[in-house]
Amino acid sequence: MRECEEQLRAIKIPIGHIAGVSVNTRARRRWGLCRKDADGFYISISKRLLNEDTKDGLRNTIMHELLHTCPMCSNHGAMWKHYAEYVNQTLGMNIKRVNSNEDKGLPPDEEIRILHKYHCDGCGQVVTKQRECKFTRNYKDYKCSLCGGRFIRDF
Ligand SMILES: [Zn+2]
Ligand SMILES: [Zn+2]
Repeated sequence: MRECEEQLRAIKIPIGHIAGVSVNTRARRRWGLCRKDADGFYISISKRLLNEDTKDGLRNTIMHELLHTCPMCSNHGAMWKHYAEYVNQTLGMNIKRVNSNEDKGLPPDEEIRILHKYHCDGCGQVVTKQRECKFTRNYKDYKCSLCGGRFIRDF
């Protein structure tokens, strides 16, 4: 965040005062969010962007949100677009109004394949896994978090 702020200030983008930054662990459909209150701007970034493969996506998202802190840039209007284009050209970024998973270095949603599916024999809670992990290797040792039941593997 600090690096991005510095880069934008260095090319004279009039970003506002950032009062707080947080990580959003729930958002599935939103990469970032910027809101304003009396202290300044608060930016939140999706946890999905915090890994090695998504470093560029993370930078793009942070810059996207930082541009919303500029005057007259609370939406994706003419000013926001103008700055986004300028930053893309000057800093070689890929800031867009809307970004796909691929843009961020993540697999496309429709390609997220389920490797194994389980259900709890007590309450029916369904658990799916995309890759082998501790759970897939030892699912018989696990108890359902909702009812304490055992898991049955469907596939
Ligand atoms: Zn935006
Ligand atoms: Zn259960």
